[in-house]
Amino acid sequence: MKIMPNRLDRAFFMHQAEYEKKALEILRSGWYILGKEVSSFEEEFAAYNGSRYCVGLASGLDALWLAFRVLGIGAGDEVIVQANTYIASVMGITINGATPVFVEPDEFYNINTSMIESKITSKTKAILVVHLYGQAANMSDILSLCQKYQLRLVEDCAQSHGAEYRGKKTGTFGDIGCFSFYPSKNLGAFGDAGAILTNDESIAHAMKIYRNYGSEKRYYNQVVGANSRLDELQAGLLRVRLSHLEELNEERRLIASKYLDKIKNPLIHLPKTMVHCGHVWHQFVIRCSERQNLISYLEEKEIGTIIHYPIPPHLSEAYRYLGHSAGSYPFTEELADTVLSIPMYNGMTAAEQDYVIEALNQF
Ligand SMILES: *Cc1c(COP(=O)(O)O)cnc(C)c1O
Repeated sequence: MKIMPNRLDRAFFMHQAEYEKKALEILRSGWYILGKEVSSFEEEFAAYNGSRYCVGLASGLDALWLAFRVLGIGAGDEVIVQANTYIASVMGITINGATPVFVEPDEFYNINTSMIESKITSKTKAILVVHLYGQAANMSDILSLCQKYQLRLVEDCAQSHGAEYRGKKTGTFGDIGCFSFYPSKNLGAFGDAGAILTNDESIAHAMKIYRNYGSEKRYYNQVVGANSRLDELQAGLLRVRLSHLEELNEERRLIASKYLDKIKNPLIHLPKTMVHCGHVWHQFVIRCSERQNLISYLEEKEIGTIIHYPIPPHLSEAYRYLGHSAGSYPFTEELADTVLSIPMYNGMTAAEQDYVIEALNQF
């Protein structure tokens, strides 16, 4: 049986008729940018999360860099972020000229909140919390630090659509919640798309100006902005997917609990969940000190896997200028050498999952 690490077509076929109907409706409407689909999606996504405002954007990276731009965080400022994140989180900081200050993760793969305080300096302006792999971070610790040191809070929710910390949705804790709707995300579009959530009307207003060349009124440009609009087609298709997000996340939870229950191999370390930190299982990330052998073994059985992420941002060529070296963040580097994401996608069949479990148990 051939099993790919992800199958984006499965979620499409689950609600094919609804997607096709919506796509045709938009294609035939003659209105393709910033119309009623975008504003309806913004209203629905804000309501779903319990946030006052949502602003649709072109990608998750745009959401991140525009968040720091709108908050006025740039050159000379420091932003705290976990070291084991996807590099786009870090780019959101550095595109603005600000400096990322890395903090090691904990055993749940999210920022180790006990290691944040020692990294706070007079230049620290914000914490960028990433709810990695779909699990909410320890928000009560993070909120108290933000309060104590008067820091801005930005959330990278690119992997945590619908995840909750103590019953409150990720993306609603800080100043700005940043989302990606890249096709493989839990709330995936059929192309690139993103959005921010905020409860602050002036931030929402500024985002709408920035996403459209810095202009509110055509040809009157207030700031140097971006072309970062969410288009009608993606917004319409996202509305369809959003209406099914709860059931899609529930399916992922069932797949994850079966993996947690049935994978039994001393060579494989299973992911841990923390109390109050809801998980929507964007990825199911195991660890194995014999990772390369495991990958080759699974390849022979035609089971695909992905590494999220093999090179931590502080060791990437793009960030050589920050001057970090191997050994700077040992746990992060250990994770980069041992983590492996096994197949996890909506529409995964029981037979497919049993095949993966059996292979892992026989390794
Ligand atoms: C996917 C992702 C992003 C970037 O989103 P894009 O829409 O691809 O730009 C940022 N941060 C994290 C944690 C991600 O997983």
